[in-house]
Amino acid sequence: MLPADNGDARTALTNDGIRRVLLVEDSRSVASVLAGAINQLEGIECELAGNYATAKTLLEERAERFFLAVLDLNLPDAPRGEIIDLVEQFSIPIVVLTATVDESIRDALFRRGVADYVAKEGVLGIQYVTRLVDRMAHSTGAKVLVVDDSRTYREYLSTLLKQHGYTVCSATDGKEGLALLRADPDIRLVIADYNMPNMDGLAMVAQMRKLRSHDDLAIVAVSDSSRPGLLARFLKGGASDYLNKPFCVEEFYCRIDQNIEMLRSVQRARDAADRDFLTGLYNRRYFFKHARKLHEKAVAGELDMLVAMIDADHFKRINDTYGHSFGDEALVAIADVLSGAIDKGGIAARFGGEEFVCLFVLDLADNPLRCLDALRRQIADLDLRYEGRPVRLTVSIGATHMPGDNLDAMLQQADRAVYESKNKGRNRVTLVQSAYCLEAGC
Ligand code: GH3
Ligand code: MG
Ligand code: MG
Repeated sequence: MLPADNGDARTALTNDGIRRVLLVEDSRSVASVLAGAINQLEGIECELAGNYATAKTLLEERAERFFLAVLDLNLPDAPRGEIIDLVEQFSIPIVVLTATVDESIRDALFRRGVADYVAKEGVLGIQYVTRLVDRMAHSTGAKVLVVDDSRTYREYLSTLLKQHGYTVCSATDGKEGLALLRADPDIRLVIADYNMPNMDGLAMVAQMRKLRSHDDLAIVAVSDSSRPGLLARFLKGGASDYLNKPFCVEEFYCRIDQNIEMLRSVQRARDAADRDFLTGLYNRRYFFKHARKLHEKAVAGELDMLVAMIDADHFKRINDTYGHSFGDEALVAIADVLSGAIDKGGIAARFGGEEFVCLFVLDLADNPLRCLDALRRQIADLDLRYEGRPVRLTVSIGATHMPGDNLDAMLQQADRAVYESKNKGRNRVTLVQSAYCLEAGC
């Protein structure tokens, strides 16, 4: 039996941002080694059940907290793999731990709709499961577009993808596939057939590559092994990888998972270069690169922008009084407020130390002084506590509307306005507008 087709895959991300795995295993030694390895993974936690009855209770309590279940088939109170039937009822992707692996077990498990199986004995098995859990935690919910004119094939691939936790959408020809990709920036991977009406796979891939680069979108071409030249054309025409028909389920999963994993590595490398390690906000380098483009548009009159510098007040005193790590927490809290305030293509960045910069793209209807003052108040109202006692944290904000000659001139204006706010007593906003300043604050 295949898991119930519930449309989109679950994301199973709980309020605390932790993804949880259900591990059902009666051998204490295997359970403790595996749970230990899984708990070492960032943002992932393992809940352990030593038998069928405990697993049932955990699932009935709140199954939606699990993005994956890792199951031993032989349990003292369920010796014949009944645990699979139980977990399937909750549409959770399943990885099976087996004592031995042979062709017949493998076929039977994939027919039952499990995502993968692993021989649990030995270090390699534990390592394999741990890597699989990590990969599935990050790919769960990733969106895959299947483009194929055969309904049976589309449905088959969709079922396999959902078993690995992917969210799936599908199209019946190249034109429709292209339209879906255009409309949905969340699509991370496309599976492209060749022979389709209206627009074939090659033409579709070429068009898709005009929209999204190799670093943003993986395209796996599916081709008949009787036409080897076609694969080369696909790869030269923009596909990232290929699958020869017919393929086995494991090969399919390896190709898809590896491509998604590759995109994640690229994203991680990009984040490391563009983001500030402590707060997760963009860094100075990224800010300048992207703000300059927006500034050019502002000078050309294509948009109205506001640059605000935000400097924490008496931050040295916060560090001196409560310690550096509390100071770090306070900076993260400020950063969260700032990133929550940015929309419509703006940028929030950590400029350095306890100094931040926000670039807002404005609507005519926006009242910038009121918006910035609301931001100031939101930070002043943060519920920060040290050993249970409230800690007062405020910022001084300086901002400007006027594009000036260049971005640096705009930032200098904003910086001068910050000092104005500081001189007037801190915890306030100074907005430079044409020849005069507007103020708000305490
Ligand atoms: P003012 O209101 O005039 O801005 O006073 P201030 O104390 O905030 O300004 P000052 O520039 O004298 O001190 C900034 C402090 O910010 C000193 C520095 O240790 C602290 N700081 C800079 N970066 C970090 C960081 O990453 N973590 C922590 N905890 N503190 C930091
Ligand atoms: Mg300061
Ligand atoms: Mg400072």
